[in-house]
Amino acid sequence: MRPIRLFALCSLMALLAACSSSSPTAVTPAPPVSTRFSIQVIYLSTPSAAFQLAMDSVVKRLTAIVTSGPAGYPISMSASDAASYTTTIRKTTANGGCGLGNATLPSGAYPGIVIFAQDTATLGSAQIIAQAGPCLVRTGGLPIVASMRFRTDYLAPLATNNQLVDVMTHEMLHTLGFNSTIFGTRPDSITPLITGAGTNATAFRGSNAKSACLTFSPTVSATCSPTIPLENIGGSGTADDHWRESIFKTELMTGTIEARGVKMPLSAMTIGSLADMGYTVTASLAEPYTLPVGSSPLMHLLAGDAPANSGTPIPEIITRAVAVFRPGQKP
Ligand SMILES: [Zn+2]
Repeated sequence: MRPIRLFALCSLMALLAACSSSSPTAVTPAPPVSTRFSIQVIYLSTPSAAFQLAMDSVVKRLTAIVTSGPAGYPISMSASDAASYTTTIRKTTANGGCGLGNATLPSGAYPGIVIFAQDTATLGSAQIIAQAGPCLVRTGGLPIVASMRFRTDYLAPLATNNQLVDVMTHEMLHTLGFNSTIFGTRPDSITPLITGAGTNATAFRGSNAKSACLTFSPTVSATCSPTIPLENIGGSGTADDHWRESIFKTELMTGTIEARGVKMPLSAMTIGSLADMGYTVTASLAEPYTLPVGSSPLMHLLAGDAPANSGTPIPEIITRAVAVFRPGQKP
């Protein structure tokens, strides 16, 4: 059974379509003041029990892996900032917002990220199962507010296949910064983590991810050095925003979901990429991963990376962060 390409990083149309009528339901209380990284989920409408359970599981998984943000980034939002940034994120995408029409940013501590989440009957194109990505980024470049939506009718099949938590982890990693915008935009003047974006040679250059990649077996240094290949097919929302499927196949952050029963490891390379973004991470929580037998990474690099499978590409529309959070300044 061939893999099916299912991930949609973000969807402008989905943002526009999915948030018009329901009232906000804050389920997770504001976190206590802490320097420890937190992922605060605020539901845009009452979540199904299955969706909330899976989200809770993913939050637990990723807050064990990401333990803090970089030193010095702002960790609180005043009431006036919360009000003005709320106005911004509520605007439609066409008017410079995130389309989070009923979202309200809480004032207070922001030691990590706030994610507005929703399971929804409609999400733009019928083929799109999820949209996720940053809405506001900090002055240091990392996301502070994000959006994560899933189409309700995909939740049960993913759960039946034992893939729901993995797919939601994949999407939440996009909100934390695993996407080409965060790879490429470093207001803190760190060298961009992406090189060759939009070309066949698009690749990730972070040193922690590279070191992890070089530990994979079978070791083929051309796979990981001088850079790690990012996806170069599939168009917007897939290319540049994932590891290259033709080489890394089962790894969680390629843009293709595996067949039922095939493990999608959250590898040391992905955890390394989070460290490259500036997060403090728990490297020991990486799942065992080996380069797929037959992927012939060197051959792919030399042959122009012909795709190793033919999953059906799904049209994807990307939204990116709409503003930078600067405490005390209007967005
Ligand atoms: Zn993705």
